[in-house]
Amino acid sequence: MKKRRIAILGSTGSIGTQTLDVVRRHPDLFEVELISALNNTGLLEAQAREFDVNNVVICNEGKYPELRDALKDSDSKVFAGVESLCSLAAAADVDIVVGAMVGFSGLKPTLAALEAGKIVALANKETLVAAGAIVTAVSIKHDAPLLPVDSEHSAIFQCLMGAAGNKVEKLHLTASGGPFRNWSKEQIAQATAADALKHPNWDMGAKVTLDSASMMNKGFELIEAHWLFGIAPDKINVVVHPESVIHSMVEFEDGAVIAQMGMPDMRQPISFALGFPQRLSCGNRKIDFSTLGSLHFEAPDINRFPCLELAREAINRGGNIPCALNAANEVAVAAFLKGITGFYDTPKICEAVMSGVSFAANPSADDIFATNEEAAALAREML
Ligand code: MG
Repeated sequence: MKKRRIAILGSTGSIGTQTLDVVRRHPDLFEVELISALNNTGLLEAQAREFDVNNVVICNEGKYPELRDALKDSDSKVFAGVESLCSLAAAADVDIVVGAMVGFSGLKPTLAALEAGKIVALANKETLVAAGAIVTAVSIKHDAPLLPVDSEHSAIFQCLMGAAGNKVEKLHLTASGGPFRNWSKEQIAQATAADALKHPNWDMGAKVTLDSASMMNKGFELIEAHWLFGIAPDKINVVVHPESVIHSMVEFEDGAVIAQMGMPDMRQPISFALGFPQRLSCGNRKIDFSTLGSLHFEAPDINRFPCLELAREAINRGGNIPCALNAANEVAVAAFLKGITGFYDTPKICEAVMSGVSFAANPSADDIFATNEEAAALAREML
């Protein structure tokens, strides 16, 4: 494999640091050309030095002087702001862009990278939730491969490698069920941010961990799977699988189901996207079938986890509604983390914003940015 030059958008978060861990194991295969973070200048500086990174972007422009001074004696060039990030991610010396930013903020740089024909390894699912039609069209138009990093979608992608052109009957997205899987509705209603942040299987950032607790994450993944694989939403089934060993499954017309398995560790899907189609060692724990014991499956409870159905409703209504749902959820989750709202205020806010936002059936990129603003404003009014 020719050495690949990597840009990591969001290098200080959970996916970003695990991406660098994969790179650390394969210095002969990868070099880091660009890293970025919103606020974490300390870790960004350390990463820039360890990986001898050429370009470093701090998205919060107020933190630029601090980072510039910290890296004064190094070879790294320091930039500020999202516009810089967009142009550097699209530059000639980058082969793969890892989209690991949090939320809607990842959309602009992802589009810039795809427009420049880069391979995009996408962890930032909100980009596809908010603008799936646009992102996939840009990927096709510019012949820019979009590789999933989300574990479920990487699993489906890996299962589809054995499809040999056969029609997919169904996708089965597995869900851990999160920390509230066995809580009653009354208990969940009283849950605090600290309760919601205790994920049983996966070590992730705060936003996706909270979305996992509400199962909004699984709803978003349904929308993500629809766009990545072109499968109708009613052919995407969600199944709760608390052990998180099967990462998702593909079912064919003859009833054959292909599953992708592994111990839960994001370095597997990350390394698969970085090295694709070559598989790389990534330091993860392997399955020991002699001690694994039973695997369990159950239907999700939409009464306790209404966010899952809201996401299904959003993709069925289509247009800019998933974008509105994402924006409302971002505002509601931030409020819940600050202790301003209760756990079930999130679906309430999302539902109200989805019905209150102005509908656009075929939104342009500009419409999507406008919807994001409008929906976030509606959600803030409700707090
Ligand atoms: Mg996932």
